[in-house]
Amino acid sequence: MTVGELLSRGKTLLKNCGVENYANEARWIFESVFDCGREYVFLHSDGEANEAKSREYLEKINSRINGTPVQYIIGSWDFFGESFLVGNGVLIPRPETELLVDFALDYLADKSEPVVFDLCAGSGCIGLSIAAHMPNARVFLIEKYPEAFNYLSKNLSRLGCSNAKAVHGDISDGFAVFDLPKPELILSNPPYIESACLPKLQREVQREPATALDGGESGYDFYEIISQKWLPCCGGAAAVECGEGQADFIKSLFSHWFAETKTLVDFNGIERAVVGTERNKNVI
Ligand code: GLN
Repeated sequence: MTVGELLSRGKTLLKNCGVENYANEARWIFESVFDCGREYVFLHSDGEANEAKSREYLEKINSRINGTPVQYIIGSWDFFGESFLVGNGVLIPRPETELLVDFALDYLADKSEPVVFDLCAGSGCIGLSIAAHMPNARVFLIEKYPEAFNYLSKNLSRLGCSNAKAVHGDISDGFAVFDLPKPELILSNPPYIESACLPKLQREVQREPATALDGGESGYDFYEIISQKWLPCCGGAAAVECGEGQADFIKSLFSHWFAETKTLVDFNGIERAVVGTERNKNVI
């Protein structure tokens, strides 16, 4: 089979199985298997495709048809201009999470050597983006689950962030048990889906780790932990991602610690993050 035929076969298979973004996904999988850029297909369309790679390509197309997220098949995904390694056991970075990074870079712009925490760091996309864009910041990324921690460590070395440190631990233990400096800024995209809603999620999302999605019965478990066990030590500001309809409750938690709370709205018009600034000085 030629390169052109192989790629079209992949596209058709995905299309027939209802994969919405079939053309791009077939191409991305092709480019990752053949380790090539976009122009390769144009230049070699009539050339015979390598047999072993063709088999691997069709196996991967099949795995996509069976519900594996395309990001896991490719093995990496872009976030805030960098490529992050992803796979089983780690949440795939989402574009709306870039809101937290935008806020953080803006907030930190005039700080000299700010300490920043990324709680429930997963792939590290939030904290490592900060570290990469702000060499003077010291970023600590905390992640509990070994599979995710493994991706976090790999992404840290891949980006070469000498100002970032991956910390293996459970945020429900609280700041006090970690041997860390007090932070100027706390960031987190914690699990926030109500446990009962997990079975209703899109099948691709169900392939992502439940531990990265499940926010407990109310969906707010991690915001309560952050508010009770981490915000007391936070000197400056905090920003957390949240699900649709959750911002008001999180604002009420944050207003105990911060004089100013606001929400960040994503490109779908959904209140996607809560930010607290102007730390109340009368609380411990
Ligand atoms: N911080 C990571 C992200 O935003 C992982 C979040 C999580 O596992 N809940 O993608």
